[in-house]
Amino acid sequence: MPKRKAPADDGDGNSPVFRGGRHQRKAAADAKAQKEKKVEAIATIGGVSPCVYKLLEHWSWGSSSALEICDLARSVKNTFGAVPQDLNALASCGSYGHQPSNTQRDLLRLEALQNLKAPDPYYVSAWVIQNPGTRPVLVKEDIAIFLPHEWGHALSQHGLLDCTVGEMADIKEFWKQVSNEDPKLYKNPVLKENRENYMPFVLHADKGPHAKQDSLHTISMYSLIAQARRLGVDESSFMLCAIPNSCLVTTKKCKDLSLANVEPTMDTIGKVLAWSFKAWFAGLHPFTDDFGHPLLQDRLAKAGQRICQNGMRCIIWALPADCEHNSVEYGLPNYNSNSPCMRCKCNRSDTPWNDFNHNADWRSKPYTKQEVHDEPMTSHWVLSIPGVNHWTFAYDFMHCADLGFSSASVANVFYDVVYKHLPGRKRSEKIAQLLDLVHQAYDDLGITEGRISKLALSHFCDADAPHQHYPDLMHSATKAKQTAYLVPVCLKLCEKFNDGSDYCMWRHKCLKHLCNLCKISEEADLFFTHEEFRQYDSNVHKFLQYYNKLSYHSYSLDNARVGHFQWGQIPKMHFLCHISEDAQFLNPRAVWAYPGEHLVGNATKLAAACLAGLQPYQVPNTICKKYQIGKHLRFQQQA
Ligand SMILES: [Zn+2]
Repeated sequence: MPKRKAPADDGDGNSPVFRGGRHQRKAAADAKAQKEKKVEAIATIGGVSPCVYKLLEHWSWGSSSALEICDLARSVKNTFGAVPQDLNALASCGSYGHQPSNTQRDLLRLEALQNLKAPDPYYVSAWVIQNPGTRPVLVKEDIAIFLPHEWGHALSQHGLLDCTVGEMADIKEFWKQVSNEDPKLYKNPVLKENRENYMPFVLHADKGPHAKQDSLHTISMYSLIAQARRLGVDESSFMLCAIPNSCLVTTKKCKDLSLANVEPTMDTIGKVLAWSFKAWFAGLHPFTDDFGHPLLQDRLAKAGQRICQNGMRCIIWALPADCEHNSVEYGLPNYNSNSPCMRCKCNRSDTPWNDFNHNADWRSKPYTKQEVHDEPMTSHWVLSIPGVNHWTFAYDFMHCADLGFSSASVANVFYDVVYKHLPGRKRSEKIAQLLDLVHQAYDDLGITEGRISKLALSHFCDADAPHQHYPDLMHSATKAKQTAYLVPVCLKLCEKFNDGSDYCMWRHKCLKHLCNLCKISEEADLFFTHEEFRQYDSNVHKFLQYYNKLSYHSYSLDNARVGHFQWGQIPKMHFLCHISEDAQFLNPRAVWAYPGEHLVGNATKLAAACLAGLQPYQVPNTICKKYQIGKHLRFQQQA
């Protein structure tokens, strides 16, 4: 019997085939074609195979390292043999794992990561602190940020404006609904322009936790219309900068650390951002940088051209921030000071902020448009952005309510259930029972997201001295969004535990009006109808009235030394009155800080993945590079 010939290689080194008879050769050729077809036929996302797309996404958003995703790519290749070319390229990074130190470098050279749709970072030469924890010294370094007008250019160039910012018809409709009475229009340069060309954005700045003892100063912008249309936070928000607090130069730090008095980092960054916003407000790529120096290369090539091809420009329509940021960063009145409000002349003496009656003194003492225009409360750089005025600063519902009075209301109801309504059992059993009641209410109300799964006494009052401090939710245990869902749950609890006493009735009404005002805002469009505004305002005042009754009731019991510290009053309740005033011009939901905070969360996650071996001032450069890639991948999916 003739010996069968040894198998010959098919050329790719993987699959030997027999060079047998005609049928065998045809079968082999078919098998090969089939295999190749399989590899080529895979659907792609912007030309990238789904597996590579997913792995790069994990890396760019900080969930996996470069080494991890290349390792995964190699295991996929080892499992399936023939894989798409881009997966093969990913697997080959760092010489197939033999030179791990080259992995990140090779990764950035992948074809899938060329010609990114998101803009390149812009480097700002700014003073920062080197070695903040050990031997702090001042150094001038290039800090990566994103220029707002370059986001605009990128979105326009890649046809992404509609799906990230909003459709032209919506923008037109927005301006049609903006009231001429809106104080944001007072002496606003947009009045001299065709308003329909301006896309309204929200600018949000805050600090998010970063590393053990640091935080990340993040500034981002998001489309107001996209939020209202619920286009998705990740799609419609854009990072401008994310810088570790520890490396930021501030006047106070220079003084405390006996360092030279140089320009604070955020002032330098702010001037650049304001310059970019100014360009976008005017609609044309600038010729010079913020110092008047000519721009270089690609940027110079675009100078004088339209930023968005369709002529769309940008206006910042709201600047929501938490109370801390408003005072510390923006230089607005401090909520703890004698004059805590940026909207009226209330105080802690003869014009009390906590008077919530219709005839309260402060109601007749608002700051006028003329007053704050002629004498601005702050010289912060955001006021130098065309279109921004004092009324662009906004009290934010998320921080005032869900991290303020809503949180306090929920905590007080929980406190009452445990200490007043559930009859004598062990405290731990009562808390377990309370959690059961909360879950029951979630089910009854059809609340499926933002549910709390754990509850401890320390989550809603001081566990060591529960009767000596005002109940409040522990924000590290209960997130703002979870608090928002607990408001209707607590209304249910108030209905259940109502013994007909004044206290129980007031408490029930307090929660009911709080629930109502949240619901009106949630269900209404970007602008309230006249009736919606009337309802909203009425519920705000009733909520505050009943909260006040509960507060005074508890206070009188405190004085008699028989009661508990409950229903503490906070300036955020006063700010709710101004949120309600603003609601006649725009739904508070449209400008709340949730999207901005979501981005702060993303940025801190990214920063955590960029820590190894870096000085804090180097972190922004890595964050921006990864964010650029992350956004590019997202754009690929959106396009
Ligand atoms: Zn006020």
